[in-house]
Amino acid sequence: MTAITNDIANLTAEQLEELDARVDGPLLRAGDEGWDDAVLIWNGIVARFPALVLQPTSADDVAAAVGFAREHGVLLGIKGGGHNIAGTSIAERGLTLDMSRMRELTVDPEARLAQVGPGCLLKDVDRATQEHGLATVLGFISEVGVAGLTLGGGLGYLSRRFGWTVDNLEEVEIVTADGEIRVANREQHADLFWAVRGGGGNFGVVTRFTFRLHEVGPIVYGGLIAWPFERVDEILRAYRTITTESPAELTVWMVLLHAPPLPFVPEEWHGRKICAMVVCYSGDPDKMDEALAPIRALGAPVVEVLQEWPYTQQQSFLDESEPKGAHYYWKTEYVSELSDGLLAAVRDVFAECQIPEAQVGFLQLGGVLNQHAEDDGAVGNRDARYALGVNGMWEADEPNADAFRQWVRDGWARVRPFSTGRTYINFQTADEGEERVRATYGANWDRLVRIKKTYDPDNLFRANRNIQPPA
Ligand SMILES: Cc1cc2nc3c(=O)[nH]c(=O)nc-3n(C[C@H](O)[C@H](O)[C@H](O)COP(=O)(O)OP(=O)(O)OC[C@H]3O[C@@H](n4cnc5c(N)ncnc54)[C@H](O)[C@@H]3O)c2cc1C
Repeated sequence: MTAITNDIANLTAEQLEELDARVDGPLLRAGDEGWDDAVLIWNGIVARFPALVLQPTSADDVAAAVGFAREHGVLLGIKGGGHNIAGTSIAERGLTLDMSRMRELTVDPEARLAQVGPGCLLKDVDRATQEHGLATVLGFISEVGVAGLTLGGGLGYLSRRFGWTVDNLEEVEIVTADGEIRVANREQHADLFWAVRGGGGNFGVVTRFTFRLHEVGPIVYGGLIAWPFERVDEILRAYRTITTESPAELTVWMVLLHAPPLPFVPEEWHGRKICAMVVCYSGDPDKMDEALAPIRALGAPVVEVLQEWPYTQQQSFLDESEPKGAHYYWKTEYVSELSDGLLAAVRDVFAECQIPEAQVGFLQLGGVLNQHAEDDGAVGNRDARYALGVNGMWEADEPNADAFRQWVRDGWARVRPFSTGRTYINFQTADEGEERVRATYGANWDRLVRIKKTYDPDNLFRANRNIQPPA
């Protein structure tokens, strides 16, 4: 392979025409119709642009592009939903494959399987599977891409019942660095399939995912309930008890935030600090009251939008809280218990928060996710019971951006001693280096490196949380 030049400007017009001739999907340059959408990513803090975008329409297109990138040493990025926090889908001055034209999706309700194209967003899959009262484990912001979420592991309200998203992945079709289109599952290319289950975009371009589906909803009970920050100690302690004792059908996330000016928030609370629980109960309706009793027992909420509603609504009701293009800076850690020291640190960090749109909180994991072996897929982290986040968001022209970023970093420093020492690969920011990636995979790292060497010895797939092959 030619060494990666990281700059497409070195290619001749003939070489680019040659790529154009080899693919059916459109090849876009800056200024072309569709360019702005193709290069738009969720985190506006990432100022990075490719020189060229290909929107493949088939696995053959992808194979041609991979071959071209390899032959000419072009940096290759792969964009699913464009929601990666570190903006890894954009190959700076290279070629980004924008998979948005490969959004085909079929559901087989008898076999309880969904075949999902790599351009699908979470909402595509949730909507199609819910038509049959089925679902797989996906995240809670419906515009996120299925591909990036799955390849990093994948978590959501159903993780406690059904594990990581990759625990529900049955098969992938994948174009590897040699340009081959392969099918990988537990029997075929089992090592590659193991690596793809959490190892990110390091091993090839996935052109089809097959997910196992479960009966879910279509009506679940959920939404949000919040109390004044003055009750923070009591609410955090209650959260610990609730999440230690709750059945797998109940998932509760805890968020300390400034109440947003939304219609369901009483005006006098806008901008004030609150403690919110985001709730999803997807189990037997007859057992619901019992499961929710400890939350209701807290009494006197200042916001309450808990209700029966479609699972698809549960999966999208927070969409507007994470608008595309704003500047986001997050730091996250996995934790395995909520000690008094951690709860006090979380309280103190948020008490000092001056950022109007920042959050400190926990996503609840546990349940079935903890019951698989650590080496069941590259994803690991089977001891994670919560993902803890110190998350900041502001506009591009924010004059206090440096101070805001520092608040995130200081808060992170205060909660880090309570971490398992690892964090979700999909929540890592651009300034987290190889050590963080390596730590995240823990005991699975060496095996990942060996598989990387087999399938991508020249590290063609490096615009990601990179696993470098040995020299
Ligand atoms: C607002 C928000 C909410 C989130 N909520 C959740 C959540 O509930 N649960 C959860 O698990 N995660 C969540 N995440 C994290 C999310 O999983 C990651 O940001 C993920 O990378 C997004 O996937 P994407 O396809 O949108 O990203 P992209 O930026 O398009 O892609 C990210 C990376 O994935 C790889 N990739 C993408 N497509 C392919 C492909 N076809 N083949 C090979 N590699 C590919 C590439 O390496 C690429 O750099 C959230 C993120 C955000 C911003």
